[in-house]
Amino acid sequence: MTNRPHRSIDAFARAKLAGIETAGLTRRVVATDRADGGMAVRDARALVSFSCNDYLGLTRHREVISAAQDAAARWGAGSGASRLITGNYPLIDELEVRLAALKGTEAACVFGSGYMANIGIIPCFAGADDVIFIDELAHACLYAGARMSGATTHAFRHNDMDHLEDLLKRERPRHGTALIVTDGVFSMDGDLAPLDVMAPLARAHDAWLMTDDAHGVGVVGRDGRGSSFAFGPDKIDVPLQMGTLSKAIGSYGGYLCASRAVIDLIHNRARSLIFTTAPPPASMGAACKALDIIERDAALRAAPMTKTSLFTRRLGLPEPVAPIVPIVMGAPEPAMAASAALMERGFLVSAIRPPTVPEGSARLRFTFMATHRDEDIARLAEAVAELGLARGGQ
Ligand SMILES: *Cc1c(COP(=O)(O)O)cnc(C)c1O
Repeated sequence: MTNRPHRSIDAFARAKLAGIETAGLTRRVVATDRADGGMAVRDARALVSFSCNDYLGLTRHREVISAAQDAAARWGAGSGASRLITGNYPLIDELEVRLAALKGTEAACVFGSGYMANIGIIPCFAGADDVIFIDELAHACLYAGARMSGATTHAFRHNDMDHLEDLLKRERPRHGTALIVTDGVFSMDGDLAPLDVMAPLARAHDAWLMTDDAHGVGVVGRDGRGSSFAFGPDKIDVPLQMGTLSKAIGSYGGYLCASRAVIDLIHNRARSLIFTTAPPPASMGAACKALDIIERDAALRAAPMTKTSLFTRRLGLPEPVAPIVPIVMGAPEPAMAASAALMERGFLVSAIRPPTVPEGSARLRFTFMATHRDEDIARLAEAVAELGLARGGQ
């Protein structure tokens, strides 16, 4: 036993928090009551929210809620065990068949969340002797997966295929396997990865391409099938197509669509699949119903992009390719001030700060939903223009 003085964990936390506060980066969780039509109630104030990823409004769709209720009634509130023990109720298999069909792959595997999918998938295909090339703006959980794999990781400049090619030429030959990892639709920028260039580049350098299509499925590409289907009539060949059930699909959970062999390996090696309880039946039932609706309702699939264009055209911003529009402000304080000014006018638009986005690129991030009213979007554009926010926008 040493006689070290005991250090208070609360004092430690408070000192850390003081540093975060000084940098203008304090985060708080605020109770938010979402309602129909993109509405959200905060502090007893009704706001039109442009900060939800529920692009198709399916979290609140009557048929989806009812499917969740039916699934809970039939299969239970929870799954009771991991999928490899007794947690694999038939609804999960049904959902996986549907997801594989949507993405045109042999098989699919559902995980507890998108984050869990990424930290489980990447270490199955890259280890200490291997190399990962990752877009600098890729989602935090792709970086987490890369770090957990122990592979050498090189970040390439955002969507810069020349930089990626240089890195592949220089670094690829020193390693065993190679993985190229990118968002299909970038969550904070709303642009697409150039998969039409990236897929052939990966093949030429004996690397495997992995896309994270959290923001693609349901809203981007032919029939809402995601970014692999957004480049002309032919599907881009991406061996690892990951996504989440938590955005346009309106439920909760993550997935990987891939070949049978790849999915079989996932079942045997992905730690965030094996050592965690299977997702609850209500979430799977909701996701199955959401896929039905996405498949049958072309007008719904198109609506988020139509709504987004309404906003960008009014402000003279570039034509969008996803229902996400950033207005980059730079420092965190002006982004927070702009968010507060919009809230004064009845709009919920979150400011996104580092470390979610790179240093110096704090921004307002607008997301658009099928259920937004056109007049609310027009009023939002007016408010953004009046506040002079779109001037420095990209
Ligand atoms: C939201 C998101 C995730 C995480 O998905 P969850 O299901 O919310 O855990 C992963 N990747 C990207 C690009 C995302 O935007």
